[in-house]
Amino acid sequence: MLKIENHIGGELTAPASGEYLDNFNPATGEIYSLIPDSDERDVEFAVCAANKAFPVWSKMSAELRHDVLMRIAALIERDLDALAEAESVDNGKPKSLAKAVDIPRAVANFKFYATAAMHVSTEAHETILGNGGQAINYTLRQPLGVVGCISPWNLPLYLFTWKIAPALAAGCCVVAKPSEITPMTAYLLSKLCIEAGLPEGVLNIVHGLGTKAGSAIVTHQDVKAISFTGGTKTGEWIAREAAPKFKKLSLELGGKNPNIIFADCDYDEMLKTTVLSSFSNQGQICLCGSRIFVERPLYERFKTDFIEKVSHLKIGDPLAESTNIGAVVSKQHLEKVLSYIELAEEEGGKILCGGKSIDLSNETYNLDERNLKSEIQNLKLKGWFIEPTIIENLPFDCRTNREEIFGAVVSIQPFDTEAEVLEYANSVEYGLSATIWTENLSRAHRMAERIESGIVWINCWLLRDLRTPFGGMKNSGVGREGGFEALRFFTEEKNVCIKVNY
Ligand code: NAD
Repeated sequence: MLKIENHIGGELTAPASGEYLDNFNPATGEIYSLIPDSDERDVEFAVCAANKAFPVWSKMSAELRHDVLMRIAALIERDLDALAEAESVDNGKPKSLAKAVDIPRAVANFKFYATAAMHVSTEAHETILGNGGQAINYTLRQPLGVVGCISPWNLPLYLFTWKIAPALAAGCCVVAKPSEITPMTAYLLSKLCIEAGLPEGVLNIVHGLGTKAGSAIVTHQDVKAISFTGGTKTGEWIAREAAPKFKKLSLELGGKNPNIIFADCDYDEMLKTTVLSSFSNQGQICLCGSRIFVERPLYERFKTDFIEKVSHLKIGDPLAESTNIGAVVSKQHLEKVLSYIELAEEEGGKILCGGKSIDLSNETYNLDERNLKSEIQNLKLKGWFIEPTIIENLPFDCRTNREEIFGAVVSIQPFDTEAEVLEYANSVEYGLSATIWTENLSRAHRMAERIESGIVWINCWLLRDLRTPFGGMKNSGVGREGGFEALRFFTEEKNVCIKVNY
């Protein structure tokens, strides 16, 4: 069975413990590879390698760093199909989605930060003194040193590289940990980094459990900053551990996003996009809109059409081109999502569509001939599938509508006024993203200004420009990723004041 390896000091290595964790294929429910069960010893090796690499990497010209990062981007692009397949096998997502979104975005992350690093400028302030003298202040931005990047399972390579690329571009050396639930593409990235000639120790990837390998990264004295994406509870723990050590923190956490639909919207565009914003990636995108509020005159029409469209989504083999909804990432996660559907019914919710897990175990898993075939073949879809689920009749403030489910479950609810829907939208602890559908420009702006979320999409969803600030308010996180913001995060500002003598 394939054994994933850590990537430390430029080498692919086994974990110090010699122990491995099982890696499941969510579509088949079978173990198909093994993950290093790394611990603080592996993290120590990785931090040492990163510390050793830092003096040279941090002083390398931005242009040379750019060249290496662009080579990594080109290799990811070369292996697009194999990486998309690996992501699908590891995560359960449709391969078509990985091919169109996840892997191209990993390429874009490297290209964006490789080039951005060549356009960084810092500030200077001229200070006129009382006696007519002068001082010049200028700001240095110096890479922090060794930093930790920890990412979740829902968009594995996409989010892993979204952290690593700016850290490397800024001149930091990295100790990174992908989710133990979806480690495969991070492992493949290790090999591409070696092929691209990334100097040894600049990027170190340690696999394993969050509570073991992850916490060892967070608590290591030499790790100067943690860039984390994952659940709010984990973020809270990381903040508690890192704060007394005065580490810089960027936390991208959970969401419970509203999708607000006014009666004057472009109906067809809204309907098509709302199916995607509700159920893409089996609803496992932190930006999915899980609370859908519809202006009353449109409610019944929307309800009928939405159910109709959703009931035609094809659930099944993640590797088949025609599949819209693949497998849920793990058995535990499937059980969590089902428990929320049960809770919704207890809270008075009416299931309009879906609501159950699906048995596809008679269907064959069509693994492509070329990749990984020796590991998994002649398998059936015995994994974890669930019907996309629409629920109505829930109060806006019940638990189903307040807690993050992170699955293919949405609630729909009518509203009458802007003030009412704002109260609904802002009533949760989260504040990651919101979507608003209206053709009324003033209303769009009024709503955007008042809604409590870090990202607001008007008449669109998941339209991303990598230059924009990305992140959440309230319990959805601290700090912003994206653009120059991320490069600034990985650097320390130093003001130099020179008094000028004439
Ligand atoms: P998680 O918090 O369980 O795990 C995320 C990562 O943290 C994994 O690599 C895990 O191993 C590691 N980890 C766990 N405990 C740790 C610890 N004590 N110390 C250090 N590392 C630890 O989250 P998940 O289940 O993998 O991901 C789902 C969550 O991620 C959802 O809440 C979702 O909303 C959120 N998410 C947020 C964004 C965003 O941009 N805001 C994007 C994607 C996912």
